[in-house]
Amino acid sequence: MALGLPSRFPDRVATVRELLAAGERSFSFEFMPPKTPEAERQLWRVIRELESLKPTFVSVTYGAGGSTRDRTVDIVERIAHSTTLTPVAHFTAVNHSVRELRHLIGRFADAGVRNILAVRGDPPGDPMGEWIAHPEGVHYAEDLVRLIRQSGEFCVGVAAFPYKHPRSPSIESDVDYFVRKCRAGADYAITQMFFEADDYLRLRDRVAASGCDTPIIPGIMPVTRFATIARSEQLSGAPFPAKVAERFERVKDDPDAVYRLGIEHGVELCRRLLDEGAPGIHFITFNRSNATREVYQALMPAVPVV
Ligand code: FAD
Repeated sequence: MALGLPSRFPDRVATVRELLAAGERSFSFEFMPPKTPEAERQLWRVIRELESLKPTFVSVTYGAGGSTRDRTVDIVERIAHSTTLTPVAHFTAVNHSVRELRHLIGRFADAGVRNILAVRGDPPGDPMGEWIAHPEGVHYAEDLVRLIRQSGEFCVGVAAFPYKHPRSPSIESDVDYFVRKCRAGADYAITQMFFEADDYLRLRDRVAASGCDTPIIPGIMPVTRFATIARSEQLSGAPFPAKVAERFERVKDDPDAVYRLGIEHGVELCRRLLDEGAPGIHFITFNRSNATREVYQALMPAVPVV
């Protein structure tokens, strides 16, 4: 797509910002860097399977520290060069000096990756442990957004939390800081996963009431196993909604029935969100394709089955 911008990205494709500004709904899939050769083969199988659904973008998370970080850069680079997909690189500030952050942003640019999701990251080991900024690093996602913006023509996404960030003392301060990071240059946000549409709608209303119109894309993970319900607080920041849990309770001893209900609930949730004007859906896949594909295809019956 030739949009006539001066660029380090000669074969540029549209950014998430441009797609949303054009009024398009964004459908995207999130992957994690694999830790073993078998997991790597699985990831590429899933990427190839989901490629045929022509998502708006796919994103790759960035490990809180250690070995998977370089993998994020390698994977987004390979996605950019050897698939038809638009990659979004998650990027965190944990344990990086500003100099290293600048170097890594340059690596994304050299790899042709112009979409970055800027998140602060959690302390490695204990996500709720004390967050200590690198002595020559940045403190908040807001600073990372600014740094990426200063480094070139990137499209920058940020994180949003329907139940507030666990470290925020109040919903009000959470919204204030969210709006600050949007004003620092974020083009859109993706939420932490949640399981009830009203939780997203309340967040969207709070942000809109603060005068901020940054599009907020819901992050959705279809429930495929009963055990997910017990892990809900850890995954989403809130207990699993009681009404939905009751439906899963009734079939908890039948893994196939749990899976089917997870798809049904995922479709209901996404339909309501889209009906209420959500700018798209971001599917958290945990590097598996089946549930995401089933929900996506129920929403978009015109998309061909692979
Ligand atoms: P921030 O926006 O910096 O907020 C952190 C806390 O500080 C909040 O409580 C906020 O209210 C407060 N705050 C913000 N600015 C200020 C300020 N100026 N003064 C005082 N307080 C302030 N983690 C990873 O490690 N890798 C990933 O790839 C990854 N991807 C994610 C994708 C999504 C869609 C989401 C929702 C989360 C992701 N995370 C990832 C998790 C994320 O790194 C953590 O939730 C982290 O604790 C918060 O990141 P943030 O960008 O929201 O931080």
